[in-house]
Amino acid sequence: MFTVENTIELFRNFATKVQTDKAWLSDLDTPIGDGDHGTNMARGLTEVTAKLDAGTYKDPGDVFKAAAMAMIGKTGGASGPLYGTAFMEMSKAVQANPDDITGALEAGLAGIQKRGKATAGEKTMVDVWVPVIESVKAGGLNAEHVDAYVEKTKPMKATKGRASYLGERSIGHLDPGSASSGLFFKALLEGGAL
Ligand code: ADP
Ligand code: MG
Ligand code: MG
Repeated sequence: MFTVENTIELFRNFATKVQTDKAWLSDLDTPIGDGDHGTNMARGLTEVTAKLDAGTYKDPGDVFKAAAMAMIGKTGGASGPLYGTAFMEMSKAVQANPDDITGALEAGLAGIQKRGKATAGEKTMVDVWVPVIESVKAGGLNAEHVDAYVEKTKPMKATKGRASYLGERSIGHLDPGSASSGLFFKALLEGGAL
């Protein structure tokens, strides 16, 4: 279940991972995008961390909401509103039922899809969220699965987002937003919520 403590820890850990892999995320975005995914995510998560430092939170839904607002306000790009919407929908789901991790993740994915209109196979972060949720439902998500799901975006052809402008030339590269989502799910795995 999500608690205030493990949700704060989830976002702090996600922020650390994004800072560590900032250059990698931007490098992934260079051949099939505009090379800013790492700086976008790092900017958003710096604000998330600042908000967590400044505020006091009495339920985990409020932590998700603060993260959502920070991501929407500071990240920019396509990814800011997508992560922001995911965390906002997760906030509502967690407020209703902090025990239901699967339900919260499904709400997050629904938010991403409502905003971005991508389905599985279009080489976006959806391609990590969908199989992660399947694995959580099956009761056995681990870090190797997460890496494998990120890796599976490599042969895909992008049909949504900036990478779709490249058509066939988007094939053979990892999707940057899938890579950052992988970092989020690894942070989730390392925390105590699952
Ligand atoms: P921008 O493309 O505006 O520079 P970023 O580089 O920060 O934004 O984020 C790019 C990532 O956003 C992509 O790698 C992809 O995973 C994700 N993305 C883009 N469009 C969509 C969409 N319609 N649905 C889901 N994810 C998307
Ligand atoms: Mg970009
Ligand atoms: Mg950009």
